[in-house]
Amino acid sequence: MANASFLCMKHRFVVPLATIVPRKVFIKDRKIIYTMNLATLYKKAMDFEFLSLEEGMFLFQQAPLTELMYVANELRKKQVPHGKVTWQIDRNVNTTNVCIANCKFCNFYRIPGHAEAYITDMPTYRKKIEETIRWGGDQLLLQGGHHPELGLQFYADTFRQIKKEFPNIKLHTLGPPEVAHITKLEKSTHKEVLVALKEAGMDSLPGAGAEILVDRVRRLISKGKCGAQEWLDIMHEAHKLNITTSATMMFGHVETLEERFEHLIKIREVQSRKPADAKGFLAFIPWTFQDVDTLLARIRGVHNLTTPEEYLRMIAISRIMLPNIKNIQASWLTVGKQTAQLALHGGANDFGSIMLEENVVSAAGAPHRFTYKSIQAAIREAGFEPQLRNQQYEWREIPQLIEEQVVDY
Ligand code: SF4
Repeated sequence: MANASFLCMKHRFVVPLATIVPRKVFIKDRKIIYTMNLATLYKKAMDFEFLSLEEGMFLFQQAPLTELMYVANELRKKQVPHGKVTWQIDRNVNTTNVCIANCKFCNFYRIPGHAEAYITDMPTYRKKIEETIRWGGDQLLLQGGHHPELGLQFYADTFRQIKKEFPNIKLHTLGPPEVAHITKLEKSTHKEVLVALKEAGMDSLPGAGAEILVDRVRRLISKGKCGAQEWLDIMHEAHKLNITTSATMMFGHVETLEERFEHLIKIREVQSRKPADAKGFLAFIPWTFQDVDTLLARIRGVHNLTTPEEYLRMIAISRIMLPNIKNIQASWLTVGKQTAQLALHGGANDFGSIMLEENVVSAAGAPHRFTYKSIQAAIREAGFEPQLRNQQYEWREIPQLIEEQVVDY
């Protein structure tokens, strides 16, 4: 019986017979909510139906990893039929490390007045952008702390000056928590702030600072950042203004499994409400909490215990739970090359950026690095053809004059 199987005629994949046996699911107070079976859920997923929180959790907990990855891989093939694995060259540059949000997982920020506090000046941007172009990049991922004195004018002036000097450089910049912070400083609205930033040169809005979009979690790890609803509202506003965005999830800390699924469903709902002609969330990027020397680890003893299997399950379930988001990115920076390569066989279709510079996640222990040559080698090693892209997921040619960055840190 255990080895018996049948062929799903519609989707042409083999389902072990064991998975069609109904199973009861207990989620709250050991109360039976309803019964489910894996085969029915696989079929719903393959039909691009929205799975409920309970159904997603059931799959995550009960499905054999190989089956979960198989279904996610089939969905990836439908969503991204070209079969290539895309990647990007950009540079994370920080506007300032001054921050009053006090996130307990962040080793990057400094409080106002700290001896190591800085605000990046134009000569530094100039040098970093010139290097970025030499190394083949076309974009800055420009983010920083919640500086208590830097308002809209500062960011608008910075973006304008960069665009004036480097009109071809794209600015993937800030994130909903920074937009919320600027809005508060200016006593303005999200819409007004986003319109002004877009006019000044913002090309797209990263899905930064999402962590887990549940306020219980946010109060524990990032109390000074905007709440879950404000994060979602800002993204919806950006979609209405046709600003492309991405969404992220940082997991493996104080959240429950159920809260991860709440997060996925909230992201999916915002994407469902985007105007029909807006691109909305172009990608979803789940990544694991990096714990080295963080307050969460030192004071509260919270460590990232995510195993490679759990990460692969999250990638696969992200593909399954988010049928309205086309690109799922593997986070090689946090899980390393091999696990990220496996994720490409279980729902992920994108390897993200080589990140010519990254200071925030690396400060909490993410040790991995790629150059433009080694990322392509890693994608090929995983069995895929690499394809350079831009932030809009449009393909780019690798520049003819490109220098390989020397990774010495
Ligand atoms: S993660 Fe961002 S908002 Fe939080 S403390 Fe660090 S710099 Fe500030």
